[in-house]
Amino acid sequence: MGTNAKPKERVYNFNPGPAALPLPVLERVRDELLSFEGTGLSILETSHRSPEYKRVHEGAMAALRRLLRVPDGYEVLFLGGGATLQFAMVALNLLEPGRPGDYLLTGRWSQKALQEAQKALGLLGEGHRVRAIWSSEVTDYDRVPRPDEVRVSPDASYLHYTSNNTIAGTQFHYVPEVPEGVLLVCDASSDIASRPLDLGRFDLIYAGAQKNLGPAGVTVIIASPQALERSRRRARPSLLSYAAVAEKASLLNTPPVFAVYVVKLVAEHYLAEGGLEALAERNEQKARLLYGAIDGSGGFYRGCARPESRSRMNVTFRLPSEGLEAKFVEEAEREGLVGLKGHRSVGGIRASLYNAVPLEAVEALVAFMREFQRRHG
Ligand SMILES: *Cc1c(COP(=O)(O)O)cnc(C)c1O
Repeated sequence: MGTNAKPKERVYNFNPGPAALPLPVLERVRDELLSFEGTGLSILETSHRSPEYKRVHEGAMAALRRLLRVPDGYEVLFLGGGATLQFAMVALNLLEPGRPGDYLLTGRWSQKALQEAQKALGLLGEGHRVRAIWSSEVTDYDRVPRPDEVRVSPDASYLHYTSNNTIAGTQFHYVPEVPEGVLLVCDASSDIASRPLDLGRFDLIYAGAQKNLGPAGVTVIIASPQALERSRRRARPSLLSYAAVAEKASLLNTPPVFAVYVVKLVAEHYLAEGGLEALAERNEQKARLLYGAIDGSGGFYRGCARPESRSRMNVTFRLPSEGLEAKFVEEAEREGLVGLKGHRSVGGIRASLYNAVPLEAVEALVAFMREFQRRHG
């Protein structure tokens, strides 16, 4: 997108999160920072009960509703605590006694989601439990299950899965089926708004904003009427209750006003650029270019994920040695390509290609990879 042309002082940002933001949004934030809409105050200094912030808050929700095509009756919620707080809130709100919470373990984040739900059990009565029903841990999370491998019991409270595995670099390219009465819950932190999705099939989707939607500090949650109804039947501290947060339109207490403001600008920016279809097309183009470079390197670069599970958001790969990987990261950084070091738990290289990463960034990375291989291959 032409408006994203990189000023000289900026680098290409492949960080996994907090991650790249659209340049026009950063420029707008800068321009409005000292006096928001002529008030003489920064949005950072404005009451969350003011009419100015009310418009921001409602505007952010409305923009997300349009961008993500949130079905009628579903609520969009803003909360703090990151995706990590949701790991516990899912169990606290949606688990029913005698009906297990089922988890697909496809990476470190889904494992954490299960562990935090297990900790939350201590706050619930007898008969609540959670369990893993599928895992690719033995093969280092190199793939997600095929649709026929996801077998959810009709007794389950919900199925929880991670649509994009940020660390392993795998992604679901389908929506898992659940039996009638079982809620479908998804951690979409690292691929929300990256492609069209039929939200009507989900009961709860949550995402920390700092990968595809904005800055850190706000978690976007989309809840179905069924999920809200189940939450309503349970007495929970207000901030831990989806129903209570929804009832106050996410203004139960001071929301993360600045993060919500930036999310609004980001969502409006993506809508103006053509919405999810345009984003999906560009994301696919970026991923194709980078995987093509990996596959065409004669084995110098090796992808970590199995081809059918490859993520379009986080591309993970290895070089012939850890020494070369360290050199790769270091030299790339000198060329203005930052954030390429793999997660500390797995090593290797990871290029995160979220919505705000322009095609030119990937073109520059691929050119650097060819040159690096020529020198070190
Ligand atoms: C980054 C990430 C998280 C953790 O998010 P926080 O907002 O830091 O709690 C959880 N799940 C996935 C898939 C992620 O990518």
